[in-house]
Amino acid sequence: MIIVLKKHIGDIQKEAIRSFLVEKGYTVKEIVGQEETIFGAVGRSTVDAREVEMLEGVGKVIPISKPYKLASRELKKEDTIVTVGNVKIGGNRIVMMAGPCAVESREQIMSIAEAVRDAGAVILRGGAFKPRTSPYAFQGLGEEGLKYLKEAGEKFGMPITTEIVNPSDVDLMMKYIDMFQIGARNMQNFELLKAVGKTGMPVLLKRGLCATIEEWLMAAEYLMSSGTDQVVLCERGIRTYERATRNTLDVSAIPMVQKMTHLPVIGDPSHATGVRDMVSPMSLALIASGASGLIVEVHDHPEKALSDGPQSLYPSQFEKLMRDIQALSPVVGKSLERIPRLSVKTISEAKQKVVEKGELVVAFQGEKGAYSQLAIQRAFDEKTKVLPCKSFGTVFEAVMNGDAAYGVIPMENTLGGTLFENLDLLDRYPAIEVVGEQQIRIIHNLIGFPGAKKEDLKEIYTHPQGLAQCQDYLNNQMKHAKAIPFFDTAGAVAFVKESGDVTKAAIAGMTAAKVYGMEILEEGIESNSSNYTRFYIICREERSDIFRSAGQPNRASLRFTVPDRPGSLFEALLVLTKHGLNMKKLESRPIPGKPWEYSFFVETELGDDGAFKVALEELNGICHSVRVLGTYSSTL
Ligand code: PEP
Ligand code: MN
Repeated sequence: MIIVLKKHIGDIQKEAIRSFLVEKGYTVKEIVGQEETIFGAVGRSTVDAREVEMLEGVGKVIPISKPYKLASRELKKEDTIVTVGNVKIGGNRIVMMAGPCAVESREQIMSIAEAVRDAGAVILRGGAFKPRTSPYAFQGLGEEGLKYLKEAGEKFGMPITTEIVNPSDVDLMMKYIDMFQIGARNMQNFELLKAVGKTGMPVLLKRGLCATIEEWLMAAEYLMSSGTDQVVLCERGIRTYERATRNTLDVSAIPMVQKMTHLPVIGDPSHATGVRDMVSPMSLALIASGASGLIVEVHDHPEKALSDGPQSLYPSQFEKLMRDIQALSPVVGKSLERIPRLSVKTISEAKQKVVEKGELVVAFQGEKGAYSQLAIQRAFDEKTKVLPCKSFGTVFEAVMNGDAAYGVIPMENTLGGTLFENLDLLDRYPAIEVVGEQQIRIIHNLIGFPGAKKEDLKEIYTHPQGLAQCQDYLNNQMKHAKAIPFFDTAGAVAFVKESGDVTKAAIAGMTAAKVYGMEILEEGIESNSSNYTRFYIICREERSDIFRSAGQPNRASLRFTVPDRPGSLFEALLVLTKHGLNMKKLESRPIPGKPWEYSFFVETELGDDGAFKVALEELNGICHSVRVLGTYSSTL
């Protein structure tokens, strides 16, 4: 059952409720949500809910109707984020795991690990204990395989996952691996589930060959009730009457499971299809259906593979797949985890070195829940402390004076174009550098009070841009309501909430709905769905390496001025061409105090090793002034 605690409950009352439940034979789990704190109580014993309801500090008691309790969305509304080494799975991330079906030799795993890491995988897979249909087939290298896998993971900076088949291997495997994998054939091996659950380690739980979704979630419940809350589900195809493919990929299980549980769910297109040519299309289908990632088999010589060669991608195919997923992820409102941008180590270094106050704070312009906050969550993580600022200038000030270690500022929108104010602020603050980039898709939602009816709405508030971008919806479906411009999208949600008036609604991003405890009445109401905003991550120059060390820079932003004579801009751009640097963006801006003179803002790729440095020297020779605003890792 779920025990919702009263808002201002004291520690003594809380402990009294906990011990009451424990005495009655329940296991109690405290879940602190954005809106409320609850106790989840599960166990074999039954207590009359009214008895619990009468305890001091209890708001209400809700029975969990599903047989899976700890795993159910009823118990925990927010997505669970699973941490595997320095990688996080769940929320709005897409995490790619790849590697061979089995570890076959040290050379083999090293070479495949390097290839998948170069392509952008963040977790390495590879079986050391292989459950094979035939006792005569290759059974895996056992502990030797684990050693090679660990070595490869460490060398290429990827946490590792591998399958466990025997409860007695738990201790041995814990020495080597970051995440256990429970294979399809063992999904209902309850002793194995209990032994693995007890470790508290992350677990990748494959769906059984013939398992219903409920049975699969009951298996997760075994893991969770034994002691781990770090469970990732994996749809890998089920056995049906169809024999043309190895299994039948149940894509619809992905959105269904997400309704039923708070645990992240990923897909395995390799075992689902058994055929290499079908792996990429099914990968995209899984991502489109909302999967939080994929686990894909990749082999550099699949024709020689000791297991599952026919379904293993060549590294070049995997690389192409990564590019496709990169393009698809913003469509589903997610971003692809590349090499972790801020590893746990980097974050703690940042905490130590950067912010004297002991916390990593990121500044943005707007109210809590703004699109910029979503960009922060994507670039850092959901728990990052944010500092809302009134203006873009205040964001720069906060970064300068150390109130925030980083700032996140919108730079460009695919419909509205460049935000010149921020380009000019970058010019005005020479001690501030661009160290990263984050793109998000702008999905506007109609947000109102929980239970509010669209037909009863009288007023809809949002930023003028939001009104313009949702014109079609407002004109066609909201004719009965008045559209009212507001200074800020998230601020509009706060304003509506404050008013307490259920006939008022706002248009904003989903973060705003969450932050203010409001409901999305209609999702995705923008007229043009190709609406993306790109943000710059900024910080003080002397701190820039901390962020940058987490990713390989491949792009630079520059600002330069040229002499007032024929061809001077052309000559400057020619330098980029000569060194093979692909220019991605060009803007001109008036120079304050020099009427009718301009400076130029350029974004360029960095080209081959050293090319940018040489080009910069040449530019310095022919331009009046050149400033590198920053180099960073761009995925666009
Ligand atoms: C595997 O991942 O190599 C594997 C054996 O998968 P499954 O358990 O899904 O068949
Ligand atoms: Mn396999």
